[in-house]
Amino acid sequence: MRSIYRVLLAIAATCAAALAPPVQPPATPSAPRLAVLVVIDQMRADYFERYADRFTDGFKRLWDHGAVFTDARYTYASTKTAEAHALMLTGWSPSGTGIVADRWYDRRTGSMVQAAASPHHKLLDSAGEGGSPEQLLVHSVGDALKEQRPESLVLTASWKRYSAVLNGGHHPDGAYWFDETTGHMVTSDYYARAYPPWVGRFAHDDLAAPFFGTKWLTHTLGTGTAPDERYRAAFRNTAFPNAILLGFAKTLVERSGVGTDSTPDLVAISFSGVDYAGHEYGPESPEFDDVILKLDHDLGELLRVLDTRVGAANYVVAMTSDHGAALVPERQKARGIDAGRLNTQAFRETVDKTVASKLGITGPVLAAFETPELYLNYAGAAAQGVSRSVLDHEVVAAVQAQPGIARAYTVDDIAAAAGAHDPLLDAVVDGYYADRSGDIHVLVKPNYIFWNGGGTTHGTPYEYDSHVPLILMGAGIKPGKYDQRVRPNELAPTIGHLIGIAFKGDPKGRVLTEALLSNP
Ligand SMILES: [Zn+2]
Repeated sequence: MRSIYRVLLAIAATCAAALAPPVQPPATPSAPRLAVLVVIDQMRADYFERYADRFTDGFKRLWDHGAVFTDARYTYASTKTAEAHALMLTGWSPSGTGIVADRWYDRRTGSMVQAAASPHHKLLDSAGEGGSPEQLLVHSVGDALKEQRPESLVLTASWKRYSAVLNGGHHPDGAYWFDETTGHMVTSDYYARAYPPWVGRFAHDDLAAPFFGTKWLTHTLGTGTAPDERYRAAFRNTAFPNAILLGFAKTLVERSGVGTDSTPDLVAISFSGVDYAGHEYGPESPEFDDVILKLDHDLGELLRVLDTRVGAANYVVAMTSDHGAALVPERQKARGIDAGRLNTQAFRETVDKTVASKLGITGPVLAAFETPELYLNYAGAAAQGVSRSVLDHEVVAAVQAQPGIARAYTVDDIAAAAGAHDPLLDAVVDGYYADRSGDIHVLVKPNYIFWNGGGTTHGTPYEYDSHVPLILMGAGIKPGKYDQRVRPNELAPTIGHLIGIAFKGDPKGRVLTEALLSNP
């Protein structure tokens, strides 16, 4: 597959020179009025190859007329949604942002912490739990923009709360997400006291209701007499959440005031539908095809609205994904590939029982298992005379004896990583923040997933999870195919450079100058 991909890239690069882009960049590069980050949740880099003949709209326009980085990789091990959304506009890996997972175990309280939840903030117009970036330990390019150009606008939207919140940094003008309890696009009182008028009906209508009782492919959407929370939770697995978010994004572009003057603005739109379809049906299914192909048109529509409202020469788009995904293990096995589906609960119980019996202690040995991180009950073991190092040793042995496990890394391994020359351990380190990460990182074998549902998941450092699209297109961008290895961490400094603000993030980050019309 890899070599086919290279050939296709070579052909694409040759063809690109012959294609006249529909939108010519300005002869003299000028700072864009608007930078738009578009995130496609769970989009593997190779989907451009798989759907090459079927992408005809937004994805095709980005591929044909953007600066396409074909080898963009996340460099941390636990490739999940919150970590990447915290990274994209800050430039920092989880070891810097502190967003080490979608949720993690708090050793002080003995409870789980959601990456963008807040006990201090409520939703507007309802008592529902709000959200805030209080767990995000660094500032974003949006924060730098608000500080240096207070009259600028920074707005984010996603189906998922943590995608909207973490893309927003600390001081956006708004961050909006879908609330399954009400069916509204919502925000929390961290961001505002009232909805701005442009949000309009999105904050008051049940946006999923018009689809209730309709058919999507072979599925009837909703049962019973009226839409409820259960209906809306299942509704997210269809093609329509992306369509609803597109409607919100169009209204945002048309009515919020972004891109209307020379002060740069920043917008981030994160489409979650591909991720939900991947988790529910797997990436090789008619449902997944329908979701991603409809999204191709939604994305095309978003770009056309930007052309009309902001002007094609006045905005820049950065498109990426938060992670890829494994292919469904049953399908991989049918291809003769070693693959498997691991049960999280059964795995945890086996490790707990094995270690307790080996050491002759009473459990629980494990305090929490948020894949791929194990949190150990050191206090319980110590009270029975078992030291930290002995407990680590036995848990590692029990984990590595389970089927589908490649390795278990301890905190001692992380401390000694510099001399270990193990790229997989380096990825664990890049995602490690001591106060929040687990005590043992469980690395599955390639093509093994901890997922009890029917589809697939993500969360490893392997290519299928870490290799994502990264495309820049529009004002200031030199179209072409760029095959050098880059990290999505480079987006934040690059966007900062494009909109003309000083942004200091991770010193390891760099501006992707090779894709810019005027180098700094
Ligand atoms: Zn996911």
